[in-house]
Amino acid sequence: MECLKGKSVYRGIALGKISVLKKTDYVVKRTKVENADEEIERVERAKKLACTQLQRLYEKALKEVGEASAAIFEVHQMMLEDADFNEAIENIIRTQEVNAEYAVASAGDSFSEMFASMDDDYMRARAADIKDISERLVQNLAGNADNDLQFAEPVIVVADDLTPSETVQMDKEKILAFVTVHGSTNSHTAILARMMNIPALIGVNMDLEKLKTGMEAVVDGFKGEMILEPTEEAKKAAFTKISEEKEKANLLLELKGKENRTRSGKKIEIYANIGSASDVGYVLENDAGGIGLFRSEFLYIGRNELPGEEEQFQAYKQVAQNMAGKKVIIRTLDIGADKQADYLKLGKEENPALGYRAIRICLTQPEIFKAQLRAIFRASAYGNISIMYPMITSVEEVKRIQRIVTEVKKELYECDIPYKDVEEGIMIETPAAVMISDELAEMVDFFSIGTNDLTQYTLAIDRQNEKLDSFYKPHHKAILKMIQMVVDNSHKAGKWTGICGELGADMELTETFVKMGVDELSVAPSAVLKLRKIIREMK
Ligand code: PEP
Ligand code: MG
Repeated sequence: MECLKGKSVYRGIALGKISVLKKTDYVVKRTKVENADEEIERVERAKKLACTQLQRLYEKALKEVGEASAAIFEVHQMMLEDADFNEAIENIIRTQEVNAEYAVASAGDSFSEMFASMDDDYMRARAADIKDISERLVQNLAGNADNDLQFAEPVIVVADDLTPSETVQMDKEKILAFVTVHGSTNSHTAILARMMNIPALIGVNMDLEKLKTGMEAVVDGFKGEMILEPTEEAKKAAFTKISEEKEKANLLLELKGKENRTRSGKKIEIYANIGSASDVGYVLENDAGGIGLFRSEFLYIGRNELPGEEEQFQAYKQVAQNMAGKKVIIRTLDIGADKQADYLKLGKEENPALGYRAIRICLTQPEIFKAQLRAIFRASAYGNISIMYPMITSVEEVKRIQRIVTEVKKELYECDIPYKDVEEGIMIETPAAVMISDELAEMVDFFSIGTNDLTQYTLAIDRQNEKLDSFYKPHHKAILKMIQMVVDNSHKAGKWTGICGELGADMELTETFVKMGVDELSVAPSAVLKLRKIIREMK
């Protein structure tokens, strides 16, 4: 038994087998082989495995995001069987007498270069698919198949670090906990863990080379530790804790259907944050009053191309319908910084958090923005949708958004496509937006304070930098004063203000927020009933 310490980002407890994700950049070596038939046989086995992996991905995507986006995995399955691609691999093995890995990688490179140089947009986009399938085959040949982020049984995922795009690809039902060497408490991966209700530890000093997939472990998010190969006694203690936690959760369930009202009668809305259509289950399970932040960018990451208007429409419509009239606030694309999508070719930046991200991308690439807005407005006919725009710093940006929104609505109207005039709000997550919140309040229907970025930009602390976790002080007076200022300015204009950053779920501040006049808190689904309990016990 070995006890490894880390920093907990979600308090929960898990017991199970670990699955070690090794992301060492695999370098394909060229080696001479004597038996070409054997190498060709290895390629066949890797293809068979790839086919099973792609089928699993297809079924998962079909369930979670619909037919249109799942189709890409069918395309990959077909590409695996492409006669020219397979002939090229076999030729390289036989004529150059080389290993399967090298043959697959070099056939993949030349096919993807060939596609990339084509005139047709569709064919050019296939270059990334070819790269994707050849990398999958190479990983399978190298015995790194576990890295496809799909697990056969629920596991504790142990990794050096996890990007948000890797996290979203994982099947939530198959994850007991996350444990990583790196990561910061305010990263999107940590946020996802909280949203998924999954115990998570970061900053665990462990040597991944020494850990083996299949080892048993207990992850204790209360103590911030992972016990490897626990004794029977430690396992028993974990079981007891798990059932105690279940009992506590059941007690909270008694609060379902009750109001978020203090004893003196003050009411506050408690909504939930989600990252995909499939998270609505957690929202309903925890009886949130609505969705206060749908991070739509998770529809854009962990894939090879932009999601089309139709695919997005289906996702937003599904959420709106499942929420059955409850408010659903969809935040428009907030990509960039730690949330990357290679196909957008955003380029490397010196200071990504201060860089080309969120509304800045939408305003400079209006075709991307308009496709998303069309999808959201189309979905608005099916429920109670609101839109919110991220990373606002000026009145001018809001005016530019409004001009684009007017164009989109006009186009829909002219095509006889039904939509509603939804509420439109902005995120207040830059000090600039706070300081001009009086002017901005006149232009929009509501504010939602993004305390994660607001803290980062106000205290000049990179939320991704794990070394700065101890300096990241979200209770800083400056932040609390800013929140009060924003709430007051919105109320003066007859508008409302919510908080959708992680601070909204900080139970030490719930009473303060209610007293400040905050109208809504949007938090991880698992925090909804805990907040309700605190509010109902307040004077
Ligand atoms: C925030 O910045 O507080 C926020 C809610 O947005 P995100 O965490 O997705 O940047
Ligand atoms: Mg933000």
